[in-house]
Amino acid sequence: MNIPKLKTWVAIPEKSDFTIYNLPYGIYQFEENSPAVGVAIGEEVLRLDQLSSLGLLAELKIDESVFSKRYLNDLITLGKPVWSGLRKRMQELLCDVAIQEIVENALVKMEHVKMLMPVKVGDYTDFYSSIEHATNVGKMFRDPDNALLPNWKHLPVAYHGRASSIVVSGTDINRPKGQKMPPGAEKPVFGPSSRMDFELEMAFVIGKDTQLGTTISTKEAEDHIFGLVLFNDWSARDIQKWEYVPLGPFLGKNFASSISPWIVTMEALEPFRTEGAEQEPEVLPYLKYDGNKNYDINLEVYLQPESRKENLICQSNFGYLYWNMCQQLAHHTINGCNINVGDMMASGTISGKGENEFGSMLELSWGGKNKIQLDEEITRTFLEDNDMVIMRGFAEKGGIRVGFGEVRGKLLPTKS
Ligand code: MN
Repeated sequence: MNIPKLKTWVAIPEKSDFTIYNLPYGIYQFEENSPAVGVAIGEEVLRLDQLSSLGLLAELKIDESVFSKRYLNDLITLGKPVWSGLRKRMQELLCDVAIQEIVENALVKMEHVKMLMPVKVGDYTDFYSSIEHATNVGKMFRDPDNALLPNWKHLPVAYHGRASSIVVSGTDINRPKGQKMPPGAEKPVFGPSSRMDFELEMAFVIGKDTQLGTTISTKEAEDHIFGLVLFNDWSARDIQKWEYVPLGPFLGKNFASSISPWIVTMEALEPFRTEGAEQEPEVLPYLKYDGNKNYDINLEVYLQPESRKENLICQSNFGYLYWNMCQQLAHHTINGCNINVGDMMASGTISGKGENEFGSMLELSWGGKNKIQLDEEITRTFLEDNDMVIMRGFAEKGGIRVGFGEVRGKLLPTKS
């Protein structure tokens, strides 16, 4: 696919995630003003509420109140043709030097705003769609020779998570307390988790509702997706291990999940489509799909102990997923389950084959057996108090870069 070259008058630093080809949406707060809709460009935020009051979006005939809302849900609800028109108009305005002086009034430096949760999340589902991750976990917890359960290659396994505890990047997390069964013990103990972990994931945001009883085909699925964010599914492995049988994760997961503040649209990701994994055995007809439905997005995890530098501990790729987003959505709705704008569907931990590609400390330390080397004298098996976890993601092709920025969160000690 050939992308027409665009030249913006905004100064874009080299290796910026927020190029003219990206234009991701978020909710920003500037000084004491009410939160409003912003778009990232270079090191600035384009304030759509301001742009709209300057009359520069008038031709799109959008109800301008959507630009001054606390969440993006109302803007997203207007539909794909509106997002697409808005994107084109922003590209025009940011490239036309004749209008630069006026548009500059709607820009604010990113460092001067606070980013808030971009969408009101009604429901959240977490899939388990990386074959490398599912295999690693199966080998550690069950049978190394039969790591995958019999259903895994026939359906995209998932559980329903909790929307209330999804937080935006920069939010600190307290180490959760809970019940755990120490190895060899006869009865469970209560206390702070001693096996705190992250999970490297991405999540897509639903862009179009369905009615109860409706199913979405793999072909229609993309029309229901607004965009993607980075997603850290914080996990307390000791709590999880004791509680998860037979109904799946509960308190080991629902104390917090963190997302990056900018939602990168599917339109911006279009150039980075890539072929998916070969699926063997053949999937049922409702899970079959045509075309390239995976996306080549580089993912990185950094661990930064207090007062230390960042250490790159994992490099993976969103394109590694066995089950793609269209299959996930088709499966999610095959029973008539309805979905709503703002719902979040996370991928599950995204691991690759290489040992530096594992998307959790559980895998990187192989169940706590191996030390993960950081700075010369510092190692980790699981997270320690005041460790910062930073995830970054970007796609790059033919001189075009579209990135997600980052999601960061610090693990604070247990709240007494
Ligand atoms: Mn997860």
